Amino acid sequence: MSIHYHPQGNEIALFEKAFANQLPVLIKGPTGVGKTRFVAYMAERLGVPLYTVACHDDLTAADLVGRFLIRGDETVWQDGPLTRAVREGGICYLDEVVEARKDVTVVLHPLADHRRELFLERTGEHLTAPPTFMLVVSYNPGYQNFLKGLKPSTRQRFVALRFDFPVPEKEREILIAETGCEPWVAQKLVHLAQAIRGLKQIDLEEVISTRMLVYAARLIASGVEPLLACHAAIIEALTDEREVALGLEEIVRSVF
Ligand code: ADP
Repeated sequence: MSIHYHPQGNEIALFEKAFANQLPVLIKGPTGVGKTRFVAYMAERLGVPLYTVACHDDLTAADLVGRFLIRGDETVWQDGPLTRAVREGGICYLDEVVEARKDVTVVLHPLADHRRELFLERTGEHLTAPPTFMLVVSYNPGYQNFLKGLKPSTRQRFVALRFDFPVPEKEREILIAETGCEPWVAQKLVHLAQAIRGLKQIDLEEVISTRMLVYAARLIASGVEPLLACHAAIIEALTDEREVALGLEEIVRSVF
């Protein structure tokens, strides 16, 4: 295996069972806790191609399914990532699916339920997904629109996994494995994360993620001074407010 993933619990076994039973998977959790990495790891482990789509508010069903393109004086159909995953029997991973336009749910319904069908309206093609096709979506439970947009019958077909920040020991291991940083650096960064995640009085837009710690650890491992690394990779990423940044700076100083 070339992709490194540290399991948090029984998610690998559950995902494998969902795959074997042709059930779609929904992964909930804050950003930067390993959802995308997990899906990449599982695709490699199961030996199927992976099509990852980072969803955004302009993403339409056509971006997933495909469209006609003009080449010279010809019009040619080009499959989108979802169609390719269906044709090849791979995993289609829609990251932050709540961001996507509403029309996307219409395409996903028949694929996510027992029909496992994709209808290409523009070409009139009806595709039935092979057994190794799998739909995986992730979202941040902060927003609920995607689930509201799904019919309850479809929604119930998703096997749901909840991801959270790894426990301190796991998070330390991840930092060391990902960045090659010294164990004391990993220890202190995780300690810092614990302190900041425990803050109730400061209103942060984002929570401190494992990804931010990985960035800080990388900077430190390549010779950047820890306070500066934490400032750049964590504090400035967490807040734009001067006052809040100063408060966080204090915590960084007390840890390092
Ligand atoms: P998400 O998709 O949840 O936003 P990612 O999968 O992109 O987050 O994870 C961000 C980074 O954090 C990864 O690139 C990796 O360096 C690290 N990471 C987080 N969790 C794990 C894990 N369980 N195993 C290995 N790396 C992890």
